[in-house]
Amino acid sequence: MPVNKKAYQEIKAELDKRNIILVAVSKTKPFQDIKELYDLGHRDFGENYVQELAQKASGLPADIRWHFIGHLQTNKVSQIAPFVQLIHAVDSLKLLKEINKQGLKFQRVIDCLLQVHIAQEETKFGLNEQELDELLNQFADLNMMNVRICGLMGMASFTVDMDKVRNEFKGLKTLFDKVAKLSIAHCPLSILSMGMSSDYKTALEEGTTMVRIGSLLFGERNKE
Ligand SMILES: *Cc1c(COP(=O)(O)O)cnc(C)c1O
Repeated sequence: MPVNKKAYQEIKAELDKRNIILVAVSKTKPFQDIKELYDLGHRDFGENYVQELAQKASGLPADIRWHFIGHLQTNKVSQIAPFVQLIHAVDSLKLLKEINKQGLKFQRVIDCLLQVHIAQEETKFGLNEQELDELLNQFADLNMMNVRICGLMGMASFTVDMDKVRNEFKGLKTLFDKVAKLSIAHCPLSILSMGMSSDYKTALEEGTTMVRIGSLLFGERNKE
């Protein structure tokens, strides 16, 4: 399926008006598709498999800002640490420590978001409110200078019930506003990553600052 450039232009214009960042989720899609959006000026792309991301990053222009949006295993951090722009789904201190270690090794500061569990599905990763508070407290006590927590990320339930989705986004926004007031050394808590193809319009209404959109731009994926 060809890249939907018209949808891209429309979504991009809508988001630019509100200063919201669009992460074009290119997982499972070929290099050529990424190149097409790149040639329109797009730079933020999201992937959720480490190996696929590493391959794409090495074969595509160096000024692409790569977002890792999947569940990251500790033993794979080193493969993306040299170049990743933002890791969206961090949910443990162990992972933060490893990212810090790899950041130190590659002499950079790696930006992360903490993933909050907002959906009802059991299968989704992420922290609940209490775990989030604990993790932020633990982080504040450790002096990890090569990792920054820049905000929160969440995924709503996979449902057509948009009231439910909206409530989950509201809950996440409330948490975000709460943590954004904290001042954790060297960490600007300013990014709220919420909204995908099916629910980004609701996310816009509920205060997102960054959306992750795949299928509306690149067409449906065959399988996850
Ligand atoms: C695949 C994926 C998306 C994009 O999904 P679409 O429905 O294709 O827009 C967004 N966020 C995460 C975490 C994903 O894994």
